[in-house]
Amino acid sequence: MKKTAIKKLLLAGGGHAHIGLLRRLPTNRQTGTDITLISEQPYSIYSGMLPGWMAGHYDLAEISIDIKALCQKAKVRFVPACVGQVIADANKLVTTDKQSFDYDLLSLNTGADTAMQWLNGDVDHTDTVVPIRPLHHFVERWQQILIEAQRSDVYHLAVVGAGAAATELVMAAKFALQGINNNHKVSLVCGDELLADFDKNFKRRVIKQLDRHNIEIIYARAKGYSEGRLLTTAQSLNADAVIAATGVTGAAWTRDTDIKTVEDGFIAVNSAQQSVSHPNVFAVGDTSTRVDKVVAHSGVHAVFGGRVEADNLLAYLNNVPLQDYQPKKRTLYLLSCGDKYAIGSWGRYSLQGRWVWELKRQIDKRFVEAS
Ligand SMILES: Cc1cc2nc3c(=O)[nH]c(=O)nc-3n(C[C@H](O)[C@H](O)[C@H](O)COP(=O)(O)OP(=O)(O)OC[C@H]3O[C@@H](n4cnc5c(N)ncnc54)[C@H](O)[C@@H]3O)c2cc1C
Repeated sequence: MKKTAIKKLLLAGGGHAHIGLLRRLPTNRQTGTDITLISEQPYSIYSGMLPGWMAGHYDLAEISIDIKALCQKAKVRFVPACVGQVIADANKLVTTDKQSFDYDLLSLNTGADTAMQWLNGDVDHTDTVVPIRPLHHFVERWQQILIEAQRSDVYHLAVVGAGAAATELVMAAKFALQGINNNHKVSLVCGDELLADFDKNFKRRVIKQLDRHNIEIIYARAKGYSEGRLLTTAQSLNADAVIAATGVTGAAWTRDTDIKTVEDGFIAVNSAQQSVSHPNVFAVGDTSTRVDKVVAHSGVHAVFGGRVEADNLLAYLNNVPLQDYQPKKRTLYLLSCGDKYAIGSWGRYSLQGRWVWELKRQIDKRFVEAS
């Protein structure tokens, strides 16, 4: 009898999509497939709960997903390493510590990096100006910021960014620093417009909450950091630390690949989340950009796109037709406001309250704790 060759499925990154895939694999296991997952960390920090952790509502374990344990349960080999290079013409992935992996099918879910171009290549301040991504670096740095704030009479923190994440982070930071010392000050530097992609009522609600927390909003573009001051197009301000939530750029490893990328290093994929240059490469979440329509880089699309992508990986292995990921027109966004209060947005509708925070807590916990 002819023996079927074992196929190698390589999962790069421990993002939302691969977490979903690992959770579904035990019941959906393909025989004849050898699966390996490579991720920088044995656990993944859930960004949706990060502001709640900063504000002191959760401990780190509560916002972390144990990727290694999920791999063990799903009988997937876990390799703690960082993807450094993908040579897709040779079906080969190389990690930054020079381990080499070949594959029949590759799935990329390594997320993105924080766009730091605004700092104009000034990398002397990496300790003071902290990008939100990678999250595990940010988590370490935030704990140091709290120690520094405990030692200071007046501590100035600036958050740079204009999206939902920046507003959540600035309110969480203010809530935490205020708990240490009332003199501590937090500013949000947001360019010309805050929450440009959101409905005006939602925006109004968020600005009211920023006011309630006494957060100074500076409508100017940050352009550098020098001698303890954040430089902006309008003014410079004291900043002992700066958190950058300035959007996403392609992951560093995408500078060393032959897979087609678009914009600034995002893997170009079609509606099936399949690379447009290499059919045996799939990518999903913040690592990828759809070429056929505009789909925002967000956790929601990493999760829902991830489900379709996971099915497509199995379909590809079994030689059956792929499905398209059809993103919903509207998605629910729940934005936490530092204390246990949140604002919800659904298209043109928005609402707020402590119960919205409780709803967010339950949804987030369900995601993290699902096994
Ligand atoms: C504070 C904050 C709050 C947010 N809240 C929301 C929200 O409420 N709703 C929403 O839709 N979006 C939200 N977002 C956006 C959301 O976090 C991202 O869009 C989402 O995490 C993208 O998921 P992903 O699976 O693509 O990648 P990620 O979640 O970034 O996961 C990537 C994984 O790959 C690993 N990895 C990275 N690089 C490498 C490498 N080179 N080699 C190996 N492994 C690697 C990482 O360690 C990580 O485990 C928020 C973002 C922030 C910063």
